[in-house]
Amino acid sequence: MNASLESGVKPKPSPITLFLFIIISLTPLFAFTVPFSWELVGIAILTYSLRMFGITGVYHRYFSHNAYKTSRVFQFILAWIGAIAMQKGPIWWAAHHRNHHKYSDTEKDLHSPKNGFWYSHMLWFLVDDYNEYDPKIIKDYMKYPEIVWMDKYHWIPPLAFSIVLGLISWPVLVWGYGVANFISGHATWTINSLAHVYGKQRFNTGDTSRNNIWLALLTFGEGWHNNHHYYRHSANQGFYWWEIDITYYALKVLSWFGLIWDLKTVPAHVLEEGMKQDAISQGKNQFKGLDGSIKIIESPVASLS
Ligand SMILES: [Zn+2]
Ligand SMILES: [Zn+2]
Repeated sequence: MNASLESGVKPKPSPITLFLFIIISLTPLFAFTVPFSWELVGIAILTYSLRMFGITGVYHRYFSHNAYKTSRVFQFILAWIGAIAMQKGPIWWAAHHRNHHKYSDTEKDLHSPKNGFWYSHMLWFLVDDYNEYDPKIIKDYMKYPEIVWMDKYHWIPPLAFSIVLGLISWPVLVWGYGVANFISGHATWTINSLAHVYGKQRFNTGDTSRNNIWLALLTFGEGWHNNHHYYRHSANQGFYWWEIDITYYALKVLSWFGLIWDLKTVPAHVLEEGMKQDAISQGKNQFKGLDGSIKIIESPVASLS
């Protein structure tokens, strides 16, 4: 591992990487060169959804947190879907994400907003040094040669996907790739930037993570980020029925077809702690427990908000 990963000194992206990133970021502008149609908007929404699920349902909840189980074949298919979002390979992504949970908002956190909004949002992953990761933190997936291969050649799935879209037509490529990729990328990165700045802290996690309904809708459930920092192992990040979590609904559907199984859920004591903290933040000294009984809060200590 490079020394700069350990030192807390935040390196900057190289000018060449930054230049290439800007070029890719400008590709949505081609949308102005093709006639507008709602069908193209629909294609962009569809491919946005595929990308978002690939990141949240696969790279995040599966490879980073082992929140469910699947077969080796479907694991590879899931990894392929995740790679389409162009956020590098599953092992790279999950290794850095586990690092984020381990060192949240400390100097070893590679994308804390304490290093500035833009650094946490996107500059951090453009840093060449951060192409490296500690293989020990992700050794549970390093044992699969096909996943290691996918991690190394993570550009193949997005290239193949763009060829398929391009064969349909140029406007489909522009909207299904350029536009959708730009929006899904920035939407995902808000979890590293905005979800550590704006929203409510139900749980006192000791870091800056927040719950934010708007980010949860945009990112298919990832906006329940304070929930997730408090209890990271569950397949659902919306802990209660009113916390919309589209990724979890999609995972449930996959489980009904037997493609994935053993979805981990939130333990009762964590759910009750959340209900207690909600009651405290509303100035109440009691709340209704999961069994329907009234629980008295002895000495309310509100979580940070
Ligand atoms: Zn976080
Ligand atoms: Zn996580």
